[in-house]
Amino acid sequence: MYADVSLFIDGAWTAAASGRTLTVMNPATGEPLGTVAHAERPDLDRALAAAEKGFAVWKKVSAYERSKVMRKAAGLIRERVDMIARLMTQEQGKPLVEAKGELMAGADVIEWFAEEARRAYGRVIPARAEGVYQLVIKEPVGPVAAFTPWNFPINQAVRKISAALAAGCSVILKGPEETPASCAELVRAYADAGLPPGAVQLVYGVPAEISEYLIPHPVIKKMSFTGSTAIGKQLAALAGLHMKRVTMELGGHAPAIVFDDADIDVASKILATNKFRNAGQVCVSPTRFLVQESVYEHFVDKFVAVAQAVKVGDGLDPTSTMGPLANPRRVTAMEGFIADAVQKGATVKTGGKRIGNKGNFFEPTVLTDLNLGMRVMNEEPFGPLALMVPFKHFDDVVAEANRLPYGLASYAYTRSAKTANAIAAAVEAGMMSINHHGLALPEVPFGGIKDSGYGSEGGLEAMEAYLNTKFVTQAGL
Ligand code: NAD
Repeated sequence: MYADVSLFIDGAWTAAASGRTLTVMNPATGEPLGTVAHAERPDLDRALAAAEKGFAVWKKVSAYERSKVMRKAAGLIRERVDMIARLMTQEQGKPLVEAKGELMAGADVIEWFAEEARRAYGRVIPARAEGVYQLVIKEPVGPVAAFTPWNFPINQAVRKISAALAAGCSVILKGPEETPASCAELVRAYADAGLPPGAVQLVYGVPAEISEYLIPHPVIKKMSFTGSTAIGKQLAALAGLHMKRVTMELGGHAPAIVFDDADIDVASKILATNKFRNAGQVCVSPTRFLVQESVYEHFVDKFVAVAQAVKVGDGLDPTSTMGPLANPRRVTAMEGFIADAVQKGATVKTGGKRIGNKGNFFEPTVLTDLNLGMRVMNEEPFGPLALMVPFKHFDDVVAEANRLPYGLASYAYTRSAKTANAIAAAVEAGMMSINHHGLALPEVPFGGIKDSGYGSEGGLEAMEAYLNTKFVTQAGL
């Protein structure tokens, strides 16, 4: 059952002060599912006061105790996986199996940060004089404002909340209005695990109104955003104006480079499967498939076969392997990209159209005969579009991979260790996965460079983003 979603402020689920709500739609049916409370200034002021109070309490809880609460929350997510996954599939569209995978991965993220909470060590620096102690101490930055999108309702939020809580920060999370219920279940798991009131607040509303109020607010000491590059730049500028620490996880246009010595069967299968995961609405989705000329036709044929075997349908149907796009905007965006490319000479090898007239279903699509004047070769498609581009030489493919201002994920397939080393060094990206799909584990860094943002949402680096470094030097009396 899909229940209406409330705000979570100071340890209590609550309606907005104004009583206003927004409607939540099912992307598979186009029908309303329920509502989500719509926060405005009075709600945000309560959330800020609670976060300030919650920070004073939570930062004093020992790392050992923080870690225990967090591990309990991970356990609750695992216990509730079936119920939460159904909510996620209904509101976001992805197949149930993907929703369950996201939840189990989310529980792993919580556990990783729970472990790291106990290892946020400082250090002692040898002094120049006897009796002097030079200490480097790690302290939580303070209340955090976090903004997360609809494509992974749990996973985008869990990385920010868990790193912040592990460090001893409190959080105001602005969750995704289009997929609010599963994100709320993450907060509920934390609350049920024993988080003190005020440690986490959850709000929804008009994103720009909330970010413009929270980011400059003196209570907030750090902001973290996941979403598009265009919005990220605006929010980073606002944060800069108010000297707030920032993590930005933005868009990408990932090159997937296939050299002629690669195992084409493996490369086409892994890359195509990952292209159509979550209907391509993934920031690290492989997008430009740059394939060496002599294996190009073979790779495209194999890739198209995988695309044609994808079964598009309601995510609640266990036979569906790709759900609808999360909102009607994405269907319009896909149609626009494809019409522009076809008009400029592209060939649609498979797909290319919306499916039916109910819900946001779209065919897995493969385009060839592309050129750099086409919008889709320059803008993030964020949908089930695969772009096939042949290349001749190593230097040509490096130039194409680095042509765009994005620098998030990249992929390469080759049997040569020399080529693997060379391509890993040459591509301008925050992450490269070679001969397998190995990104986004809790223990490894996750983040981009260039217009894809800065900071990391995984590994040791993710904790650092929520910690201040204080230097204390002390001489004996
Ligand atoms: P959008 O740019 O309107 O919104 C993207 C996200 O940012 C949403 O979660 C939205 O709530 C939030 N947002 C928008 N304006 C904001 C503001 N002023 N303050 C705070 N948050 C704000 O786009 P959209 O139509 O929802 O999604 C399409 C594009 O967003 C995609 O093309 C993709 O580039 C990007 N996106 C990226 C990710 C990611 O994982 N990096 C996730 C979702 C969307």
